[in-house]
Amino acid sequence: MLSKISKKIFNSERISIEEGIWLLKESELLDLIPLANYWRTKHNPKNNVTYVVDTNLNYTNICDAYCSFCAFYRTDENDPSAYTYTVDQIMDKISRAEKNGVRTVLMQGGLNSNLSFDYYIDMVKETKKRFPNITPHFWSAPEIIRMSEVGEMSYKEVFKSLWDAGQRSMPGGGSEILSNEVKSEISRFKPKNTIDQWTEVHRAAHSVGFKTTATMMYGHVEKMHHVIESLDHIRLVQDDALQNGNNGGFTAFIPWSYKKDNTALAKKVSQESGPNEYLRIIAVSRIMLDNIPHIQASWFSEGKKTGQIALRFGADDFGGTLFDENVMLAAGFYNRTTEDEIKDMISEAGFIPTERLTNYEIVPKKETENAIR
Ligand code: SF4
Repeated sequence: MLSKISKKIFNSERISIEEGIWLLKESELLDLIPLANYWRTKHNPKNNVTYVVDTNLNYTNICDAYCSFCAFYRTDENDPSAYTYTVDQIMDKISRAEKNGVRTVLMQGGLNSNLSFDYYIDMVKETKKRFPNITPHFWSAPEIIRMSEVGEMSYKEVFKSLWDAGQRSMPGGGSEILSNEVKSEISRFKPKNTIDQWTEVHRAAHSVGFKTTATMMYGHVEKMHHVIESLDHIRLVQDDALQNGNNGGFTAFIPWSYKKDNTALAKKVSQESGPNEYLRIIAVSRIMLDNIPHIQASWFSEGKKTGQIALRFGADDFGGTLFDENVMLAAGFYNRTTEDEIKDMISEAGFIPTERLTNYEIVPKKETENAIR
């Protein structure tokens, strides 16, 4: 089986769902390295690994989606730990981040019914007006669905409004595992419990010209075949985006493992997933997602050493500095770094650290050197 699959990969042929499942379940871990690096080199022949200087802000933790894997949300706005920031309060946070050299602000929050459509649009407009050098990489599919409800608009109309406000990219959160069977078990309420809406949102984003990422949170109730079906689904959506021009819609795929502390789902999960499964998923996603340019390794969610090793399993991006992060922190998971440490980790793994922007454009070296730090 290995030689049959290897032959297909080295001929740049797409592997099937069954072959993906075999690689994930049956192959020797180290046998995946040359197969994954074939596609890594096809997409990125340079010996560099990119990273972005970013921060991860959360504007509200009030949410009515009740995802059982989430420790971040609060349902009662009178709860002392519940919060919703005003646009001005978020601008203060972005101002501080900019002084630390941040170029991208990734921002997501709960599904808070008290927020108007204008709140989201004003957030983008103010960011673009006050911080023209910062890229707003805001919201995820469930928040777009909520915006379409409060604004009484189609997803496409929501994206057109965000585009007019100055936004061009969106993170891929809310996918978890793209299987209705899994989603209905871990997300009790719509809009998060089927894969159709996540997919429709990303298709709408791509049709307006947005670039998005695709993500996967694994290591809870899913089986191996759900992981592979999820990857297959993502590559089919990317096939359509490529056919429609604009160089495809997904820029990168980013997997991470579920962290169980303080979550309702914890009682169903005996042990968190470890490095072996992560490296397998990185390698097999690089092989399966033959039409997606970048695979992101995470120093943050899997630990720094595992993140470094993942760069040898087909990943060509090391994610962001994530100066501020509260979602995994709520699940008892703390990890922090600096830009210098990221560069050292990439170099130590044998690659040239290269700063990029949200859209994976490389930051010119001179600009990197002159950036405020
Ligand atoms: S994952 Fe997001 S949508 Fe789900 S409960 Fe947490 S904040 Fe709400």
